[in-house]
Amino acid sequence: MQKVKIIEVGPRDGLQNIQSVVPTDQKILFIKKLAACGMKEIEIGSFVAPRAIAQFKDIKEVVNGVRSLRGVVLSALIPNERGAEAATACGVKKLIFFFSVSREHNNSNVRQSPQESLKELQRIGRSYLADPAITLRVDLATAFGCPFSGNITTAAVLRMVEKVAACGIREITLCDTVGFGNPRMVEEKFSACRRLFPGITFGAHFHNTRGLALANALCAYQTGIRSFDSAAGGLGGCPYAPGSSGNVATEDMVFMFEEMGVKTGVNLKKLLKVCSFLSKTLPHTRLASSLYQAGLPRISKKENALAETGLV
Ligand code: ZN
Repeated sequence: MQKVKIIEVGPRDGLQNIQSVVPTDQKILFIKKLAACGMKEIEIGSFVAPRAIAQFKDIKEVVNGVRSLRGVVLSALIPNERGAEAATACGVKKLIFFFSVSREHNNSNVRQSPQESLKELQRIGRSYLADPAITLRVDLATAFGCPFSGNITTAAVLRMVEKVAACGIREITLCDTVGFGNPRMVEEKFSACRRLFPGITFGAHFHNTRGLALANALCAYQTGIRSFDSAAGGLGGCPYAPGSSGNVATEDMVFMFEEMGVKTGVNLKKLLKVCSFLSKTLPHTRLASSLYQAGLPRISKKENALAETGLV
């Protein structure tokens, strides 16, 4: 049976671009509803300084509110060693360290060069890689293009993957932070990564800024990628990347894979109810989700009968 892992990033990537701070109890409810859809992994927030992103100032309370969930990996973003310490002290078992392939974006995002971020990663690796209870994943932002410096070559991505792999990391996600990727680029970058680093599990993280996220996800799947980030309702964006917009909507991606016969383990009907919850909780945010707008395909008995007569 063909299957993929869907990693829900709505509570982190989805909420980080929303200006008004969502009440803690609503964040907890959002995560619990996502887990009830059958999600196997959820990014629940970010251990960044509250002055950088106020949305996550209650991250510890959010972790406390969802720690009883079973059967789902709860991960959190960490920008540095201090974030890793805070996350693990709260009981977070999966840490996602992120930095950009692009020097300009990394400087804008975390105020340091990629080289400095790599040193930070080495320090975090020394503290946590030997701990069997902790998983450390690295997200490489702007792997398909940067809003400041433009094109990011496959060679640049491979050089960065090599350095991250040398730190002992075995899970790396290539992120199209601002929707510059296209299927040909996706094919080239993921094929090269998989060929040169067979010991690494690669994941894909696409934003639908220019409408190509699903095409890119399909292309990544065809190159052998089986782990995909997405956000319920198509929420998302990067506060430090001009022009960035929502992640690919989880329900659109789940629908695509399930219609192709690829199992996701996610209950779509329940997920559409999560979208309804989001539209009430975030009344000023338009949900960029095709499936939520259109609903699941439904052919009435009358239409079915007409179709059988060949009249439609
Ligand atoms: Zn993102």
